[in-house]
Amino acid sequence: MKSYDIVIVGGGPAGTAAALFLKKYGYNIALLDQALFPRDKVCGEFISPAADDIFFDLGVLDSINALNPTRLSGVILSAYENSYLQVDYPDSFDGRTMTSLSVERSKLDNLMINHVRNSDVDLLEGFKVTDFLFDNGNVCGVKGHDAIKTKFSIKGKIIIDAGGRNSISLRQLNLRRESSGRGRIALAAHWEGARDLGGYCHMHISHPGYTGISPVGSNRANVVLTVDRKYLAGDNMEQFFRKTVLGNRLRRRILGVGGPVEKVKGVDSLAYSVKKPKCGGLLLVGDATGFLDPFTGEGIYLSLRSSQLAAGVIKSAFDGSDFSSRQLNTYELIRRKEFFKKNILSKILQCLIYKPSLCNRVVESLASQKELSSVLVGVIGDYMPARKVLCANYALRLLYGILKQRQALLIGGSQSLPN
Ligand SMILES: Cc1cc2nc3c(=O)[nH]c(=O)nc-3n(C[C@H](O)[C@H](O)[C@H](O)COP(=O)(O)OP(=O)(O)OC[C@H]3O[C@@H](n4cnc5c(N)ncnc54)[C@H](O)[C@@H]3O)c2cc1C
Repeated sequence: MKSYDIVIVGGGPAGTAAALFLKKYGYNIALLDQALFPRDKVCGEFISPAADDIFFDLGVLDSINALNPTRLSGVILSAYENSYLQVDYPDSFDGRTMTSLSVERSKLDNLMINHVRNSDVDLLEGFKVTDFLFDNGNVCGVKGHDAIKTKFSIKGKIIIDAGGRNSISLRQLNLRRESSGRGRIALAAHWEGARDLGGYCHMHISHPGYTGISPVGSNRANVVLTVDRKYLAGDNMEQFFRKTVLGNRLRRRILGVGGPVEKVKGVDSLAYSVKKPKCGGLLLVGDATGFLDPFTGEGIYLSLRSSQLAAGVIKSAFDGSDFSSRQLNTYELIRRKEFFKKNILSKILQCLIYKPSLCNRVVESLASQKELSSVLVGVIGDYMPARKVLCANYALRLLYGILKQRQALLIGGSQSLPN
């Protein structure tokens, strides 16, 4: 049976980042993916500005920039065709102008896997892992079959599960817990004929759900619609997608002359959380650690960052030849601590967007206080700490803005939306 120091299951952003971080230490690594690349993936394709630094550390930023990807300078947000906000990313704490990458997943993931392919990591495409191998209750390998159904078993001192939302750990070790987003689905397609998108990601909230629209090329956008599944009942998915997207006049203004250029793809049961594994020899990274909801769109950053954190803990495990659950649990603690406040903020925002009246007031308040909206996108962009928003001072200023707007409306003021 073939044996490695590290076996990685999954070649998305989390798995490839783990491979590229860990190969620097000279470990003997195999990365398995059931897919043959390039493969596509339902995603908003809008990547947190903070991801650039990790791409740089991985040595892939230059090749990403060579793809000539769209760079966005901020976010446009509207609520219920009533309130509207356009905000640029603030500079980083060390004075850098921040932008976010908007790049098609088929291209990004293929680029990352090519870096793995060109390294001394063994890349096994078309290899589906169906179960773990155990020794004394600890994970010590994986088994499965390749593209022509030949069975394989591979041993590893550490197994990294980077298998995403359907990863093998969640199924075989029963680690998945559904969250409040249960029943919500996301529908996505690339759209040609988009116009006036500027350098912004467009988030439009309205009944029956919200969209994220990211420019990914000349007149080309990636459109993701998130709705409760019940609204789709009985409807044709393509028609529902088009009708709902264009049912909002702000979206119609930027997308109305074009249409989807591919079959609409869907992802079910969006949000879930994950229990930590009890056995040694196993670490989970990326979406295998849980998923909130795509509204704040930072899954790729979280995937890269979780792999970066995991690499540090794995290095210590090899240094001390200790692959026990106690040793690897350090990673769980660091990761959960780092993402804790950001997760709370994401959950608050997700509750807010389904409360039209409050949502409108908050967007109006943010629109009238550039400093607050700017900090918010810095936090969502993962380069400002969440505590800058989750504090009494921020909440009071937001509330003050809401009260001031209401007063202005009472004496006859009104806000302007683009025509
Ligand atoms: C609707 C939607 C919109 C989103 N929008 C954004 C956005 O705008 N910005 C953003 O940053 N994030 C976004 N995300 C999140 C982002 O897509 C994920 O966070 C990211 O893809 C996670 O990367 P990953 O490497 O963990 O998993 P994945 O990218 O899912 O990769 C997992 C890989 O593992 C392989 N695999 C799985 N199981 C096995 C197995 N048993 N054996 C072998 N291989 C296996 C799969 O083939 C796959 O290649 C969105 C997600 C959704 C659902």
